[in-house]
Order: sequence, then structure tokens, then C-alpha cells
Amino acid sequence: MSKVSGNLFVIAAPSGAGKSSMIQALLKRHPDNSMQVSVSTTTRKPRPGEVEGEHYYFVDEKSFIEQAEKGDFYEYAKVFTHYYGTSRHVIEDTLASGVDVFLDIDWQGTRQVKAAYPGVHTIFILPPSNAELERRLRTRGQDSEEVIAERMSKAQAEMKHYSEFSYLIVNENFDDSVDKLEHIVLSQRQRRSKQQIRHREILHDLLAE
Ligand code: GDP
Ligand code: ADP
Ligand code: 5GP
Repeated sequence: MSKVSGNLFVIAAPSGAGKSSMIQALLKRHPDNSMQVSVSTTTRKPRPGEVEGEHYYFVDEKSFIEQAEKGDFYEYAKVFTHYYGTSRHVIEDTLASGVDVFLDIDWQGTRQVKAAYPGVHTIFILPPSNAELERRLRTRGQDSEEVIAERMSKAQAEMKHYSEFSYLIVNENFDDSVDKLEHIVLSQRQRRSKQQIRHREILHDLLAE
């Protein structure tokens, strides 16, 4: 079978809508390493339980700016009061190795990725209501009241960009939402353009007579 490059997905949402949980649940359903989430670099401080290299690479502002100036980031943006960036290596090397890649990034980064990588598939996750969004931020129990208030006020600004995305999932029932995300991801693999590379020999044999 010939090598097929992986598909690139951007998954964006207001903070607390459930995108990180949905991506982790989808990865758990596919332990075959056929999909990966890109680990971003950030100047935000780690939350309790967050692990360096697993959730983020945590750096100070000086080294973030140095990496940005060197061109290490495929995209980066200031979200809330911190910088976040996607490693160039993830996009270029992981996709080339055939693995599907998820970027959990904001709308500003999404615009940069769409401009540089027109084949990207963009997905927006919405909460079922503003009250439920606030409840989820609170029950996650990882942010202070001040941070929660800031994120709720930014949620409106993030959600206004939903129409720049190709797919929309309202995350009401968690398992249903993961099913929907899975359908979007798996359907890209069946595109004729991918299948005709993956199954070149079969096609060749079928059409040989
Ligand atoms: P969360 O929203 O609860 O997951 O809180 P975080 O502090 O982890 O992320 C805050 C925002 O930054 C979210 O909108 C993320 O999608 C966004 N973000 C995370 N990593 C990146 C990145 O590498 N680039 C960009 N542009 N945005 C990012
Ligand atoms: P994000 O990555 O978008 O900031 P998280 O994945 O951290 O959001 O989810 C925020 C909180 O909401 C977490 O405590 C998570 O367990 C919870 N959550 C996510 N989806 C649902 C859902 N469909 N119903 C109820 N709670 C949810
Ligand atoms: P098949 O094409 O035979 O259905 O898939 C074989 C294996 O490759 C499966 O493990 C499947 O998960 C994985 N796979 C199929 N298509 C893709 C793709 O486009 N990207 C990635 N990363 N893996 C794929």
C-alpha cells in the first residue's frame, strides 16, 4: 500500500465547551496511533494536573518570542492574556508520516492555518447554552473565579467566529458529540483522492482486464 498523508483538523470552541475532552475520548477510541493531537507551546501557567509535553510545552514569554522569531511556529496567537503556538514540526512531519493531526487552537490561529494549509478541515464546538458553558467551566474546577469570568466574557467573541468553520457540533450529550466528531474525521479518510493512493494496487488489478 502506498503512503497517504494524514488529514489536518482544527477544532475550536469557547473555553469550557468540551473540545479537549472530546479529542481525548476520540483518541482513546483509536489506540492505533492513526491520530494525534498537536501539543502547543504556551506562556500560560500549568493548571493542577497538567503535564509538560502532554498538555502543553510551558515556556516563559521571552523564549516564546525567541521561538516565534526563529519561525518554529506554524501559527501563533495571543489568546486571553497569553501566547499559544503550534509547532511547525508537528504539521510538517506528523502529517507526512500518515497520521491525522488535531489542532486545538483559537479562531485567530485557525485563520492562519487556513491560509497556509487550504486542505485543513475546520470544526467548531458549541455548548448547548451560555449557562451550561459557565457550569462546565466551574465544575472543571481548575480556574479561579476571576479566570472563569474572563473566559465567559471572551466566549461570545470566540463563538461569533463559528461561521468561519466547515463543521459544527453542539456538545450536549458527550458520547453523541464524540460520535459526530468521529464521523467527520473518519469520512475524510474515505475521500477518493486518499483511497486511490491507499489502494492503488487493488485499483490497478481491478482495472487491468
Ligand atoms: P481551554 O480553552 O480551557 O482549553 O484553555 P487553554 O488555556 O488551554 O486554551 C485557551 C485558548 O487557547 C483555547 O481557545 C485554545 O484553543 C487556544 N490555543 C491553545 N493552543 C493554541 C495554539 O497553539 N495556537 C492558538 N492559536 N491557539 C491555541
Ligand atoms: P475545553 O477544552 O473546550 O475548554 P473541556 O474539555 O475541558 O473544555 O470541558 C470542560 C468541562 O466540561 C470538563 O469538566 C468536561 O468534563 C465537561 N464536559 C465536556 N463535555 C460535556 C458534556 N457534553 N456534558 C457535560 N459536561 C461536559
Ligand atoms: P483502511 O484503508 O484499510 O481502512 O485503513 C487501514 C488503517 O489505516 C486503519 O488502522 C485506519 O485507522 C488507518 N487509516 C485509514 N485512513 C487513514 C488516514 O487517512 N489517515 C490516517 N492517519 N490513518 C488512516
